[in-house]
Amino acid sequence: TLVAGVVAVQGDVSEHADAVRRAGRAHGEDVEVREIRESGLVPDCDLLLVPGGESTTISRLLHEEGIATEIVAHVEAGKPMLATCAGLIVTSRDAKDDRVDTLDLVDVSVDRNAFGRQKDSFEAPLDVEGLDEPFPAVFIRAPVIDEVGDDVAVLATWDDRPVAVRDGPVVATSFHPELTPDVRVHRLAFFAADEADPLAR
Ligand code: GLN
Repeated sequence: TLVAGVVAVQGDVSEHADAVRRAGRAHGEDVEVREIRESGLVPDCDLLLVPGGESTTISRLLHEEGIATEIVAHVEAGKPMLATCAGLIVTSRDAKDDRVDTLDLVDVSVDRNAFGRQKDSFEAPLDVEGLDEPFPAVFIRAPVIDEVGDDVAVLATWDDRPVAVRDGPVVATSFHPELTPDVRVHRLAFFAADEADPLAR
């Protein structure tokens, strides 16, 4: 059994819990989900998910509760993490917003709500590196990734802008893979055959 921690201080927690369980099942792996609202739980997690929601709130609570440093340690240990939308903002290098004290785990800079200035939310069929068929990507006031570090792999672009990236053990998306029944992005983040594969350890 793999233990998956879903950061649950705020945001769309149950959708991620459901998706990571189903992704595990697709690979014959039992996933036990724990909701992370306090410190002390992350060290026992094999996988970590940081959901969408409100990045200023999530960031503040992660620091207040002492969870932030544990998430950093998880990633520095090479363990896989999926961060979506607000989760991407919180784990980025720079969000250009004083109210978000970013964790600097994904070497990108983001612009909060940048897609939303044109169109609040939309769904688009997205070609994602490693997936055979387009992924139904739901964007909700999504951040734009406007700078990408040298070691970051861009997995998908929309409108010529990166919307899914991998930085070491972390996959991060501007969109919400947890809001559609399709769990292929969760499978890619946690069970794909590469160095971030928990099954390979
Ligand atoms: N716009 C939100 C923020 O900046 C993120 C939106 C989302 O997670 N759907 O926190």
